[in-house]
Amino acid sequence: MKIGVVSDVHGNLEALSAVLEFFNRRGVQQVLCCGDIVGYGPDPVACIELLQQAGVRGVAGNHEWGVLGKTPLARFNSLAVLGINWTRVQLADKHRFYLDGLPLIFRLGPLHVVHGEPADPAEWEYVFSLDDADEQMGAFFTDICLIGHTHIPLVAERVAKQGTRIVKKDDFFIRDDAKYLINVGSVGQPRDGDPRAACVIIDLNEKQVTFYRVEYDICRTQEKIRKAGLPEELAFRLAQGR
Ligand code: ZN
Repeated sequence: MKIGVVSDVHGNLEALSAVLEFFNRRGVQQVLCCGDIVGYGPDPVACIELLQQAGVRGVAGNHEWGVLGKTPLARFNSLAVLGINWTRVQLADKHRFYLDGLPLIFRLGPLHVVHGEPADPAEWEYVFSLDDADEQMGAFFTDICLIGHTHIPLVAERVAKQGTRIVKKDDFFIRDDAKYLINVGSVGQPRDGDPRAACVIIDLNEKQVTFYRVEYDICRTQEKIRKAGLPEELAFRLAQGR
């Protein structure tokens, strides 16, 4: 079975559509989402509806909780607050209901899905480094924990009795004697310097994990951001991948 994984879509419909079409061409049977469907981007409603239509399963991110008033806006930077307040106005009750129904933890077979950190998903802490990842390895009991939140792809592997290391490959096989913390990067607002949408395919039969970058029409998304009256910085950063 092939699982496609997305995270941090952030209302970027062009990026999400491109990734879901890519998954279709690759024979992905189920898509999982690590949260932050909304916030920053100009198409929160269309992204929610597309994920629903595609039968995507997953968890809430801090931007969902911000929009719903479940995380105080004081915990967000000023750009994020502008995006959250703008998004609130766009959503109908049925969209809020959908976002409110997203759990903090989702499990599918060997996969454990959270937005930020498995140890305490509602705290929205970031996993950036090897030390951060190592601290989290005891906080999930499946082979693989899938996360997003930093918008920067990362793979940490803990082999029994050997400690944790960073895997610097875009394509690797899952070892039977290891567990993995995998940050899949961001579909709608990458911050690792590559502006293309980030996503992952996990082939559970082959025990293979592959990272991909998918091109999409960034200019179109930028135009929509400007038209919506969202801050120019949100359009600018998409082309930078920062
Ligand atoms: Zn995010």
